[in-house]
Amino acid sequence: MPATVLAGDIRDLRVWRSPDYTRVVIDLGSRVEYSVFVLDNPHRVVIDVNDSRMLADVARVDLVDSPVRSVRSAVRNQRDTRIVLDMDGPVNPSSFTLPPNDEFGDRLVVDLYDLGAESPARPAEIAPSSPAERQTVSSSSQRNIVVAIDAGHGGDDPGAIGFDGRIREKDVALAISRAVFERLRGIPGYEPVMIRQGDYYVRLQQRPQLARQNRADIFLSIHADSFSTSRAEGVTVYALSQTIAEDENIRRVAEKENSADLLGGVSGDTSLKNFEDDLALTLLDLSMAWSIEQSVAAGSYILNAIGSVARLRRDVPQQGNLWVLRSPDIPSLLIETGYLSNPREARLLTSADYQRRLADAIVQGVMNYFYERPPEGTLVAWQKANNQGPDRQYVVQRGDSLSLIAQRHNVNMAQLRAANNLRGDIVQLGQTLTIPGGGPMPVVSAPPTVSEHTISRGETLSGIAERYRVSLSRLREANDLRSDTIRIGQVLQIPAF
Ligand SMILES: [Zn+2]
Repeated sequence: MPATVLAGDIRDLRVWRSPDYTRVVIDLGSRVEYSVFVLDNPHRVVIDVNDSRMLADVARVDLVDSPVRSVRSAVRNQRDTRIVLDMDGPVNPSSFTLPPNDEFGDRLVVDLYDLGAESPARPAEIAPSSPAERQTVSSSSQRNIVVAIDAGHGGDDPGAIGFDGRIREKDVALAISRAVFERLRGIPGYEPVMIRQGDYYVRLQQRPQLARQNRADIFLSIHADSFSTSRAEGVTVYALSQTIAEDENIRRVAEKENSADLLGGVSGDTSLKNFEDDLALTLLDLSMAWSIEQSVAAGSYILNAIGSVARLRRDVPQQGNLWVLRSPDIPSLLIETGYLSNPREARLLTSADYQRRLADAIVQGVMNYFYERPPEGTLVAWQKANNQGPDRQYVVQRGDSLSLIAQRHNVNMAQLRAANNLRGDIVQLGQTLTIPGGGPMPVVSAPPTVSEHTISRGETLSGIAERYRVSLSRLREANDLRSDTIRIGQVLQIPAF
């Protein structure tokens, strides 16, 4: 598979392990012509880079957790470089080149997909449980609410870089995601699933698919921002925009034969390809409208909870065109947790304490949303119907006192002492406390206004009401409108529910 011309220096070689493939990134001085092939007995991958010099020390490449045993390189034909990867087992290579970006120059990427049973050990982290396993998790017959946590970027994609040139978004996103996972794991009725569990890249299209495979009830993509000035700050929450959703639905119907898309919101596990185009589009529009409405509502609860620990850039969810949010059947949000270009926020975002507080707030928002709108058949729906909040587990952190914990969880001191057989008010760092549910879980009310719409040419108030599926009178009321006259550029508040 020869590619384009020009001579190149090989400046670095990096290896990232994903659950089912290994990514090898070769940093180049310019575009190169190259070829990739495999050899058996023993298993090797050979990468020939024409007209190039090896400047990297390949013996020192970090190969931990990867099926690459060693890397060697040699000069070939006096002007080409041959790179040989000694492998633990057979792989199927797939390669492509990437143009320079802010962070890196030209790159050659070789993805080595595992073949057969000889795949290497995965990173020692918690694997998402399969749907079959999950049914035994809850002691009652009520199912758990599955929360898919997607740490943005990863592996060769560092995401935004901090003000100091060192802090990387992929690390911050993974740390906060893990904190969300840990927090949710202790809450009966919830089951967190990590979409990315380590420092590797997962393709954008694959992220919502993994959420769907795990039958997620909500998808949260965790990111951090960066901007050209250090002043920008605050949390932003995004849901998919309605306009993008409409274009996306048309595309999905056109490709429905090859798509694994499900219509979860309206028809359970029905696949799109079982329907005629017209009907498929209608069902998809309905499902997507449901998904966006739920996303915006969940986003409001999450922002409301985050507001007590962080600054908010916008206090209502924003709607945008983001790949990972395009599920028609799973409410999906992207949370920009702050600006790494802002030294104050960057320091907070890299502190374990702040990551935990942020994660706790995200989880609180998720719980408030699901307590308000529990999916049928879940333990949370049962708890709500029976007027019970869930018992929760809490691990005592540095600086906690019993009264602080009671206050934070909205329970009184006597209840908290009784639930944990405590005589006094002394708690130890690292001690696990049961936070009694008892009465209904306190629900923090979400702000009633959840999105904004800027009027473009040709739009009418009734058209906008229809698009967002709110009544004309609610829309007038939310915007203090006496008549239905609107002007181009005017910003309307769209009430959610
Ligand atoms: Zn990002």
